[in-house]
Amino acid sequence: MAVITERCSFCEDRQAIYFRRYSGEKLCSKCFRKNLVERVRRTISKYDLLRPDDRIAVAVSGGKDSLSLLKMLYEIEQDFPRSELLALIIDEGLDSYRISGIKTAKSFTKKLGIPIYELSFKNLYGFTVSEAFRSGALKSLGIQPCTLCGVLKRKALLRGAKEVDASVIATAHTLDDVVQTYLLNLLRGESNIKPIGLRNESSEVIPRIAPLRLIPQREIALYAYLEGIPFQSRTCPYTHISMRDEVRSFLTLYEREYPGSLYAFLSIFEKLIDRLYQGGEERCEICGEPTSSGRRICRACELIDSVKKLMNR
Ligand code: SF4
Ligand code: ZN
Ligand code: ZN
Repeated sequence: MAVITERCSFCEDRQAIYFRRYSGEKLCSKCFRKNLVERVRRTISKYDLLRPDDRIAVAVSGGKDSLSLLKMLYEIEQDFPRSELLALIIDEGLDSYRISGIKTAKSFTKKLGIPIYELSFKNLYGFTVSEAFRSGALKSLGIQPCTLCGVLKRKALLRGAKEVDASVIATAHTLDDVVQTYLLNLLRGESNIKPIGLRNESSEVIPRIAPLRLIPQREIALYAYLEGIPFQSRTCPYTHISMRDEVRSFLTLYEREYPGSLYAFLSIFEKLIDRLYQGGEERCEICGEPTSSGRRICRACELIDSVKKLMNR
């Protein structure tokens, strides 16, 4: 993050603390925070992500991205008195890492006066990510903990959102996360790639939106720091054994060398995505949720069944 000693390009008064390399702007602390919230507001409006009367379930983890999103939506939603904000936290069973994240998230939501609801993998599926990992079941299946965690978390969030009667789920995926996921999809040879974090309405499924999809991760980190948001700074014990971690490192280096690359990728990829996304609204025979076209059972139900069988052997 570049530290500079010039005046802010917005107010032309205070000293700039951040140089936005991809746009050439220099921002002071106050203008930076204001501008970031404004950009999230514009993202919501550009993609039509929220309705004035939405009951928004924000997926929080206790990390900087999700708590920053919660704080920004809290500010933005002040202009929409018919909307409601609540937080959902999923305990995947990641030992002390998740326990401390839950504690941080609960104290922050309490400070903002936002209700928080908790669900756990143990209660929903009968096992945690760490238990499945330690049992050797994931190794037998040839998958990483993040694959299990990601697929089951999506299912848990949907379940939680239904229980609290939310009309939309907001996740804290940043520009970096969205680009990483698109690239991972391509590297895995996926042919049916869905747009991420846009409001795709479906009569039975609660839409998932990503209001931070145009904000780089490092700007969210700076926002959290400047706002004094008490986020959990530890990283998940399984982060470093995921394929995503390698893609993340590559993209971070690339963006540092060639500022603006993430935006360029997102922009061109989303122009092409219509050709890649073939739709397909088939339903899982077990849980009734959508499956990729051609599948009778969704990936989550398939994994739950396989992990349970392997753990009970
Ligand atoms: Fe789950 Fe992987 Fe994220 Fe850890 S790093 S919370 S295991 S998806
Ligand atoms: Zn300024
Ligand atoms: Zn299913």
